[in-house]
Amino acid sequence: MKILVVNAGSSSLKYQLFDMQNESVIAKGAVERIGIAGSVLKAKGNGKEKVYTQDMPDHKVAIQLVLHALHDDEIGVIKSMSEIGAVGHRVVASGEYFKKPTLVDDEVIKTLEEKTFELGPLHNPAAAAGLHACMDVMPGTPMVLVFDSSFHQTMPEKAYMFGIKYEDYKAYGVRKYGAHGTSHKYVSQEAAKYLGKDAKQLKIVTCHLGNGSSISAVDGGVCVDTSMGFTPLDGVLMGTRSGCIDASAVEFLARKKGLDAAKMVTYLNKECGVLGISGVSSDFRDLIAGMEAGNQRCKLALDMFAYQTKKFVGAYAAAMGGLDCIVFTAGIGENTPTVREDVCENLDFLGVKIDKEANNAKGSGIRDISAKDSKVKILIIPTNEELAIARETLALI
Ligand code: AMP
Repeated sequence: MKILVVNAGSSSLKYQLFDMQNESVIAKGAVERIGIAGSVLKAKGNGKEKVYTQDMPDHKVAIQLVLHALHDDEIGVIKSMSEIGAVGHRVVASGEYFKKPTLVDDEVIKTLEEKTFELGPLHNPAAAAGLHACMDVMPGTPMVLVFDSSFHQTMPEKAYMFGIKYEDYKAYGVRKYGAHGTSHKYVSQEAAKYLGKDAKQLKIVTCHLGNGSSISAVDGGVCVDTSMGFTPLDGVLMGTRSGCIDASAVEFLARKKGLDAAKMVTYLNKECGVLGISGVSSDFRDLIAGMEAGNQRCKLALDMFAYQTKKFVGAYAAAMGGLDCIVFTAGIGENTPTVREDVCENLDFLGVKIDKEANNAKGSGIRDISAKDSKVKILIIPTNEELAIARETLALI
């Protein structure tokens, strides 16, 4: 069966078409600047690439063009839309409304639109637009929503609650939901497979370190804690996000800078993190270049990032009462040896010992970078959220 995976952002739409017989990607592409002058679709299929430049005022037009590209004379990979067995849609926020991947019907759309938009105001309306666009042009094809936060729904109450009035949690749903769940689930399952063990026997800390970063504790195959909170602003400092900060410092800063609550949240999301600390860049490649050139603020940003990540590793080993494996994934986790080394440094007391040579070696696929005498396995596992969504979609339908 062929499954289309759609990841819609507010002005972008990425897609991949999988042949699930061998889980291969047979076509992929991305639309940028939906609703903005200069919309463009860059599509790959049949071993070729084609760029379509045309006005795409909304997601429906973008999806129509994507479907056209899928059976285009030059780069097309299917003859008719009926070859697509189902569409899996990435959705960022689920609140407590969706605990697992969900087949779309009228009730599901109503809940998505009426309940979750305020929890993911930047992302969920875009996902709904992508969903409606697909439903319009592919009526009758099953649509599945796969939520970034559903893997975290197994967290116990003691892990997901904030120390606020219980009545306010009940009334407003303010609690930890987490993010990057599809990635954490995928890499923890891949780790178990790689180690030849049942996931039920493993205590894993998964470090999804990218422009957005989160760390999860996966005990027996289920998530028991994660570093992101009510929104993806919580946890470690990130590219431009502050990570956790004392709420009173937020109020203090807002007064000093003359910012209202909404502007303050924008400041914490867009101007802080390693960009704010270094004053140079949110991109770790720039930070490493800066540090190597002697920039102390770049070094500080990198030190803070590794230190905060290390603290989550330790905290989650304690929460799970043990640790069998640490997984590094996403842009930074997969590509930045110095961060991995700094996170694992001085964790011998936990049985964590990195092999520096293996850590610095170039490579691809899953890599074991633990020293021979490390009790804890340290793995680099490339994440593949699209494949994970395709698998969830297939399993559901
Ligand atoms: P992501 O959000 O997963 O795409 O990750 C983005 C982050 O990964 C950026 O900070 C990049 O600097 C970093 N990154 C991506 N590729 C590389 C690479 N080849 N070497 C070092 N850092 C990388």
